[in-house]
Amino acid sequence: MSPSAHCIFCNIAAGTIPSRKVYEDDELFAFDDIKPWAPVHFLIIPKTHIPSMAQAGPEHAPLLGRMMVLAPKLAMEQGCNPYPEGGFRMLVNTGAEGGQDVHHLHIHVMGGPRPWLKG
Ligand code: AMP
Ligand code: ZN
Repeated sequence: MSPSAHCIFCNIAAGTIPSRKVYEDDELFAFDDIKPWAPVHFLIIPKTHIPSMAQAGPEHAPLLGRMMVLAPKLAMEQGCNPYPEGGFRMLVNTGAEGGQDVHHLHIHVMGGPRPWLKG
């Protein structure tokens, strides 16, 4: 069995674990965080299993770029208010000391009216 078979986010991207899907294409998947900190809180993941930003190399630059530019589009679609009065936060936790709990690379995208639960 491949390591990704045990990975919760690989299973979410494959549809074997349910999620509230926000977006999907050939390479990327986005879904609502199960414990949102903010009125809008979703995660963008690559479908391929990359554990964290610590494993990101130059070969991942196009994929990471697509994740970054997808975030503002989805943020607006999901109800974040427009910049500059509104906006959103993008966050990538990396490793235990970086606060990472799920070891499949993901960008948190959070937004909506304050206050938020955290941050
Ligand atoms: P991190 O601490 O950066 O690794 O963030 C992991 C995030 O994944 C947390 O905000 C969790 O609430 C979220 N999460 C964990 N399991 C699920 C799930 N089954 N569906 C949606 N979000 C999840
Ligand atoms: Zn994975």
